[in-house]
Amino acid sequence: MIPLRLCLLSSEIMPYAKTGGLADVTGALLQEFRRLGHDVRGFMPLYQSVRLAHPGMRPVPGLQDLDMSLGSSSHAFSVLTSSFPGTDIAMYFIDCPAMYDRPALYTTDPDEHRRFLLFTRATLDCCRRLGFIPDVFHCNDWHTAFLPLYLRTHYATIQEFARVRSVLTIHNIGYQGVMPSTAIADLDLGPRVSLLDTSDLAMGVINPLKNGIKFADAVTTVSPTYAREICDTPLGMGMQDTLRARPDGVVGILNGVDYRDWDPRCDPHLSVHFSAGDLRGKAASKRRLLESNGIEVDPGKPLISMVTRLADQKGLDLLVLALPQLLDERDFAFLLLGSGEERYVSFFEGLAVRYRGRVAFRSGYDEALAHLIEAGSDMFLMPSRYEPCGLNQMYSLRYGTIPIVRRTGGLADSVQHFDPATGRGTGCVFNDYDAPAVRWAVGTALDWHAEEASWRQLVQNAMAQDFSWGRQSVQYERLYRELAGRSGSKRT
Ligand code: ADP
Repeated sequence: MIPLRLCLLSSEIMPYAKTGGLADVTGALLQEFRRLGHDVRGFMPLYQSVRLAHPGMRPVPGLQDLDMSLGSSSHAFSVLTSSFPGTDIAMYFIDCPAMYDRPALYTTDPDEHRRFLLFTRATLDCCRRLGFIPDVFHCNDWHTAFLPLYLRTHYATIQEFARVRSVLTIHNIGYQGVMPSTAIADLDLGPRVSLLDTSDLAMGVINPLKNGIKFADAVTTVSPTYAREICDTPLGMGMQDTLRARPDGVVGILNGVDYRDWDPRCDPHLSVHFSAGDLRGKAASKRRLLESNGIEVDPGKPLISMVTRLADQKGLDLLVLALPQLLDERDFAFLLLGSGEERYVSFFEGLAVRYRGRVAFRSGYDEALAHLIEAGSDMFLMPSRYEPCGLNQMYSLRYGTIPIVRRTGGLADSVQHFDPATGRGTGCVFNDYDAPAVRWAVGTALDWHAEEASWRQLVQNAMAQDFSWGRQSVQYERLYRELAGRSGSKRT
C-alpha cells in the first residue's frame, strides 16, 4: 500500500510537553503511524520548557526569521527541528519566544487565542515552504481547530493543497477555546468571516472547536461511548447540534496504551518489575509507595489511589462528600497525586492531616510517582463526571491495580464490572453520579479484596487486557486512506 503523508499538530506531545492524556496520545500516534510505514511529521509550539529540556534542536534552513501577521499584530518566528526520540520522525517546533516563553503551556492571557492561531497558521505555512503537502492534517482539540477553515479559505486556491484533507480529534469537548468576537480580525478571514457561526458572533464570541467540527473532513473522538455522549447528551457541552449536523457523524476510536512506557515488566520508573505470573514486585512497589508517602506500612490493608488533574470533570466533588464517611467506616489507605483547583488542594490537604498515616496527598505533577502509584496500589479510583477516554484505568489494568470507575465515556468502554460468581470482569463500575454510588463502588471493591481467591482472579483478568495502539491506530489509518482517496473537487 502506498504510504500516506501525514501531518499531526498538537499543543502537547510526549515526550516534549504534557499536561494530560492529549500528550500521551499524540506522542503514541506519531510513532504508530511511522511504524505503519507512513511519512508522518509532528508540529508543536516551542515552549520554554521544551527549549530547556531539548537543547539539541536544529534551525530549519529557509524557515528562520519569518513573519506572520494576525490581524494588526505581527509575529516573528522560526522553525527548529529534531527527530522524535528513538525514531526518524521529523518534529518541527514553532519558535516564537514572545508567544511561548511563558511559565506554563496554557495561560489565561488575553492573547491565548493568538498563541494557537499563530501555531496553526505557521504549521500550514511551514508545510508549504518545505514542500511537504500532506494527504491529511490531523488536528487535535481547539488549539488547532481553525486549520480546516484555513484549508477552505486561505489555501483553497493553492493548487498543491486542493486534495489535502483534515481530521479533527476531540480529546475533551469541555475545552472549546472560546474567544471574544472582538478578536475576529486576528483570523484574517476577510470576506470569508461569513463562514463563522452567526449566532456565536451575535453572542459576542467565536468558538474555535465549533469551527473545527464544521469544517474538518472528519471528526473523531477518543472512545465510542464518548462519541455517542457528545452527540446525544448534555456532555456535548453545546456542540450536540453541530456534531449531529455532520453527515458522517463522529467516529469514536478508543485510545491505546503505549506499553513501552506503561508495562510493569519493564517500566523504567520502577526499581522492581513484575508480571501476572509473579506479583512479588507489586508487593515491593506497594511497600516503597507507602513508605515514601508517609502511609503506615500494612501490606494487607488495601491502598486506593488516584492520579488526576484536580478539575471538576474528575468527580472530585463526589469524593468531598463520600471519602470521609468511607474512611470512617472501612479500613483502607488512600493516596492522591494531582494538581489543579485550589479548593480540592485544600480538601485533600485537610484529609491527609485528619487521617494521618492513612491518607496522603501529593500536590503537583510527578511522572515517576504516577508510575509507582500504578504499580504499588491495589485499586485506582476514577469517579469522573465525564471521561472522553481516560488512560489511567487502562494503565491500572496492566499493573493489576483494579479500576473503580463511573460508567461514562472511555471508562465504560474499557472496564467491565466484575462478577465474583462467574469470575468475569476487570473492575468495579458504577452508574450514578452521586456520593452513595461512590460509597457503594468502593465498598464493593473492598469486599472483593477481602476474598483472596476472587481478588486473585480479578487481578489476572485485569492484567490480561490488551489496549495496545496496534489495534487502534489501524482505525485512524483506515479513516486517513478513505479521506485521501476521496476525489473531491477543489474546496470553495
Ligand atoms: P486527562 O487528559 O483528562 O487529564 P487522561 O486519563 O486521559 O486524563 O490522562 C491523564 C494523563 O496525565 C495520565 O497519563 C496521567 O498519569 C497523567 N497525569 C495527570 N495528573 C498527573 C500528575 N499530577 N502527575 C503525573 N501525571 C499526571
